[in-house]
Amino acid sequence: MYAERVLSGMRPTGALHLGHYHGVLANWVKLQHQYPCLFFVADWHALTTQYDDPRLIHQNSMEMVVDWLAAGVDPNQATIFIQSRVPEHAELHLLLSMMTPLGWLERVPTYKDQQEKLSSKDLSTYGFLGYPLLMSADILIYRADKVPVGEDQLPHVEFTRELVRRFNHMYGREPGFEEKAREAVKKLGSKRARLYDELRTRFQEKGDKEAVEQAHALLDEIQHLSVADRERLFGYLEGTGKMILAEPGALLTEASRMPGLDGQKMSKSYNNTITLREAEDSVAKKVRSMPTDPARVRRTDPGDPQKCPVWQLHQVYSDDACRAWVQEGCKSAGIGCIDCKQPVIDGILKEQAPMRERARYYQEDPDLVKRIINDGCEKARDLARETMRDVREAMGLDYS
Ligand code: SF4
Repeated sequence: MYAERVLSGMRPTGALHLGHYHGVLANWVKLQHQYPCLFFVADWHALTTQYDDPRLIHQNSMEMVVDWLAAGVDPNQATIFIQSRVPEHAELHLLLSMMTPLGWLERVPTYKDQQEKLSSKDLSTYGFLGYPLLMSADILIYRADKVPVGEDQLPHVEFTRELVRRFNHMYGREPGFEEKAREAVKKLGSKRARLYDELRTRFQEKGDKEAVEQAHALLDEIQHLSVADRERLFGYLEGTGKMILAEPGALLTEASRMPGLDGQKMSKSYNNTITLREAEDSVAKKVRSMPTDPARVRRTDPGDPQKCPVWQLHQVYSDDACRAWVQEGCKSAGIGCIDCKQPVIDGILKEQAPMRERARYYQEDPDLVKRIINDGCEKARDLARETMRDVREAMGLDYS
């Protein structure tokens, strides 16, 4: 079993908005206190759809990192890096492509969806077909066991798990595996070795899952084993080979309900966003221009909050007392729409205030941002190199 690790990334597509904050970043900020986290700029993924116009990728990547830092991602807690600065992702992607059946990629649900959604682009490219595999490589290179995803991305995690099983089955049987595993058992010491063998027999002969859990706990408490021996013992226990790649698990995250300025989901493609670092007067202007319940033509016309996009923002930014004030005031025409919008403006500005402050700090020191990225890339690369050593060895490519 490998160490717990969270991996998540974002494509650099321009300034992040409050939908990104509520849907992804607020969760990252929470996760960074719970697990070792790796957050990466998926610049190669941006190229799968923007291959014909990559001019903004670099600038967007750097700006996006500032957005993350502004949102509260802490470089002392989480590793922040850029995908293309860790070329091992590409190597693993290539090696996995050798054993990935074409049909698996064609069946990934987002493949056809995206092609249809982005019909103005020619996405019948090799890179686009392979992007789910690149995503798998992103996860597997860090042996990340926790991948925050929405429900719609679950098939992708399952795809990655299948890939791991196929890989470990094909390449996990290193030459002399049995002998090496027996050697590793001896290193447990006689008492623990006996217990390990008993548990292994219980599982392999009777399918006793509790025995597997006990054996995992036993191995977890032994400090002096090398990573390779530990993985051999896990594989030997369950009758498989060495687990070279680790099956990732999904950390199911709730879909963001962050509404945009028109009541639809906040999204750049709907042109209804407020960016994370949007200027204060622009926030106020945008909210004041929001459409309201069409029944409120005059100030004296009563309205219905359910028919108004501003009400949806009250759900995010207002407390119960304020929401009761809106309900009462709207239905009785006791308040005007401009009054009603003010607490939303205040709520957004309050949320953005610490982000603005953090962003200012990092914008004033671009070298600091570069250093954070460089350090993150180095840390990520060290982990990626470790995995690639095992992968190369398993695939007969170790020339050292
Ligand atoms: S009072 Fe508020 S909820 Fe009612 S229509 Fe105006 S903005 Fe919408």
